[in-house]
Amino acid sequence: MRVAIPLDGPSLLERYRDVAGDAPVRALEAAAKRLRGHRIAMVNSTATGGGVAEILHRLVRLLVEAGVPTTWEVMPGGPEFYAYTKAMHNELHGLPARFDAAGEQHYRDTNARAAATLELPGDLVLIHDPQPAALIEHRRQPGQRWLWRCHIDLSHALPRTWARLQPWVEQFDGLIYSHPAFVHDSRAPAYLAPPSIDPLSDKNCPLEPSEIEEMLEPFALPADRPLITQVSRFDRLKDPLGVLEAFVLARRRIEAHLVLAGGTADDDPEGDAVLAEVRERAAGREDVTILALPPDAHRVINALQRRSRIIVQKSLREGFALTVSEGLWKRRAVIASAVGGIPLQVLHGRTGLLVRSVEGCAQRMVELVDTPALARRLGAEGHEHVRQHFLHTREARDYLVCFLVLDQLAAAR
Ligand code: UDP
Repeated sequence: MRVAIPLDGPSLLERYRDVAGDAPVRALEAAAKRLRGHRIAMVNSTATGGGVAEILHRLVRLLVEAGVPTTWEVMPGGPEFYAYTKAMHNELHGLPARFDAAGEQHYRDTNARAAATLELPGDLVLIHDPQPAALIEHRRQPGQRWLWRCHIDLSHALPRTWARLQPWVEQFDGLIYSHPAFVHDSRAPAYLAPPSIDPLSDKNCPLEPSEIEEMLEPFALPADRPLITQVSRFDRLKDPLGVLEAFVLARRRIEAHLVLAGGTADDDPEGDAVLAEVRERAAGREDVTILALPPDAHRVINALQRRSRIIVQKSLREGFALTVSEGLWKRRAVIASAVGGIPLQVLHGRTGLLVRSVEGCAQRMVELVDTPALARRLGAEGHEHVRQHFLHTREARDYLVCFLVLDQLAAAR
């Protein structure tokens, strides 16, 4: 299914000059100029929910405006396919999962069916994550260049699961990872390109204080105490129960209110069960609000992040965590686990605070509530760090550069 990307309104690229600065926009334009005449087709497995969909909605437009026609296809799947790919996702993050015996066949069949229907007009194909990786076997045409972009933290991947994926991964011309620690042995060359956010989207654009209050009014959040918030899909790897536990410990020493906000993603079958567990564990607590949000609640999340004193991301495993970039961009004090791609964003003591345990997380909550000046300093540095490294102009340019390098490698052969 092709995702329609609106291209109306003022140029996104031009608006980036004001926010990101002129240099990153020019660097993107220069790379795009060298790829004139090429077309990119992106493929992932969901149009809503999760970081990849969040990125593609705006990155595709940026690439088009920079001069490289780009399309985005979502690969259709069914419950068995998502159950298998979620198990694979968990095992690639290092957590043993149960595989249905028929799962691998579903995976192959779903990819084969999608290969017969998806439109891939580009000569440059960028496949996101494991779900559509097997398309390459069916759809690769001579002269095309295929990149596999892995958003997962593979540093603890179970070898048996990597082995399941490897036959397809090996067919790509290049692999893109978010962090050097995720790089796996492979015939294909590896590139690094961390994810990024769009500072101009509904999720991240500036909001007036009155709009923030209006957006949050339905949730009746207390005005007399700081909010501590984690925004995430209800996924065990995001550890919402760990956040709750840390908050309960911190509450012995501070006045505060916890918000756990999130939805589920089309390609994540575990969301409802995790949400139910969190609700049960928080039952009866008036200092905790659990918000199950619809997939288009971008401005609500924006308002929530801006209204919070502290943004938490206590993930057990994490490819990158766009939610961390979003919090830093809004000059919030961020407490986040030292896992996966998070330490690229949270430089401990400079742009936020890294934690490794429930107790550590609780202690940092107390520290930041008690020391607003520290929270402000971290937030200010965090914003600048994101401006320099984690805006879409940089990620879009990185993808173009990967394709340019592939061209040069091919020419040198
Ligand atoms: N998000 C959202 N609604 C939700 C939960 C998350 O819009 O209910 C967004 C969140 O703001 C972020 C993205 O989805 O932009 C999640 O990306 P991240 O890298 O943090 O995690 P992922 O879900 O990809 O593991």
